Amino acid sequence: MKKKVALITGINGQDGSYLAKFLLEKGFIVYGLSRRTSNYKFQRLKYLGIFNKIKIIYGDIVEFEYFSKIIKNIKPDMLFNLAAQSFVDYSFDNKFTTFEINNKAVYNILETIKNFSTKTKFYQASTSEMYGNSKKKSQNENTEFNPISPYAVSKVSAHDLVRIYRNSFGLFACSGILFNHESPLRGPEFVTKKIISALIRIKYKNGKPLELGNLYSKRDWGYVEDYVSAIFKIINHSSPEDFVVGTGVSKSILEFFKLSCSEIGFNPIFKKQGLKKYCYDKKTNKKLMVVKKEFFREQELHHLKADISKIKKKLKWKPKTNLKQLIKKMVKYELEKINNPQEEHFY
Ligand code: NDP
Ligand code: GDP
Repeated sequence: MKKKVALITGINGQDGSYLAKFLLEKGFIVYGLSRRTSNYKFQRLKYLGIFNKIKIIYGDIVEFEYFSKIIKNIKPDMLFNLAAQSFVDYSFDNKFTTFEINNKAVYNILETIKNFSTKTKFYQASTSEMYGNSKKKSQNENTEFNPISPYAVSKVSAHDLVRIYRNSFGLFACSGILFNHESPLRGPEFVTKKIISALIRIKYKNGKPLELGNLYSKRDWGYVEDYVSAIFKIINHSSPEDFVVGTGVSKSILEFFKLSCSEIGFNPIFKKQGLKKYCYDKKTNKKLMVVKKEFFREQELHHLKADISKIKKKLKWKPKTNLKQLIKKMVKYELEKINNPQEEHFY
C-alpha cells in the first residue's frame, strides 16, 4: 500500500516533534518545514531519535509563494499547521510578526489547498487562549471567544478562516482547540518547564531562585503525547469538525509549583517581605522562588478549564496522563539531563 504523506509546519517545536514521531510510527512519510536560524537546531527531533527519518524543508511560513510551491509539489495527504509564534507574553510586544505567522500564513495555506491540492486534509492548531476570560466555568466548542492578547486575536481569526474555507469552499479543514499541554520538551519560557528546571537546578546545582509572575491564574494542563493522538483522531474523523482537547482539570500556577516541589523533595514555606512574596525550603532553608513584577502579563487570562464532552463522545478520546504523572515525566527528564550532561538534550 502507498505510504501516506504528512507535512508538518513547526516540525521543530514541541508538538511538531511529538506528532512527527507518532506519524512515523503509523508508517507515514513525514515532511517538516523549518526556518533557518543561526544556532543549533532540531534538539527535540534528535532527542526523540527521529531527526534522520524526517524530510526537512527549509523555509519560513510567511514566505508565501515559496510555501505554496512546496504544497503544490508535495500535495500531502495531511497538512498539520503547527508553526506559530506561540508565546502569549511575547505577542504583546511583537504583534505584527505574531499576526503574520499565526494568521496570514494560514490564509495562504488554505488558499493554496483550495486552488491546487483539494485532497489535502488540513489541521489547524487552535488554542484555549481564544476564550480569554470566559464567563463559563469550563469551555467547549460552543463557548464564545473573547481574545485578550495579540496571540489570541491572531489565533481566533485563523480559526474563523478555517471554518470559512470548510463551509464555503468544501475543504477538509478542521481545528483542534487545544488547552495547555506540556512535556519534558516544552519551550523553556513556559511556566511549567521554567518551574521544574529551576527547582532541579536549585536542588542539585545550587541554582538561583525561580522568579515567577502571577501565581493565581489557572490552567488545564495535559501531556503532549495524549494530545497528538487526539489531533490524529480529529483529522481522521469522517467529517471536518472542530474539537476541544484538554483534561477537564484546572490548577493554579501555585498548585503546580507545590506539586513540583513535593515531587522533587522540597517543603516550601511562603513568606512576605514588604510587597514581595517569596518561598524557601523548610529543611535546607534554600530560597526557592520569588514573585517578580516583570513576569506579570499586560492582561492576564485567569482561568481555563476544558469541557471535553464532544471529543469523548464522538472520537472516544480521553487523556491518559494526569498532572502528577506529567510532572513526574518532566522531573525525570531534568534529572537525566543533570546526571548525563554529555548526552544530547533539549534545554
Ligand atoms: P512551539 O513554540 O514549541 O513551536 C512552534 C514552531 O513553529 C517552532 O518549530 C517554530 O520554529 C515554528 N515557527 C514559528 N514561526 C515560524 C515561521 N515564521 N516559519 C516557520 N516556522 C515557524 O509551539 P508548540 O509546539 O507548543 O505548539 C504548536 C502549535 O500549537 C502552535 O501553533 C501553538 O500556538 C499551538 N498551541 C499550543 C499549545 C500548547 O500548550 N503547547 C496550546 C494550544 C495551541 P523554530 O523552532 O525555528 O522557532
Ligand atoms: P500560556 O497559558 O500559553 O500563556 O502559558 P504560560 O506557561 O506562558 O503561562 C501560563 C500562566 O502562568 C499565565 O497565567 C502566566 O501569567 C503565568 N505565569 C506566572 N509566572 C510566569 C512566568 O514566569 N513565566 C510564564 N511563562 N508564565 C508565568
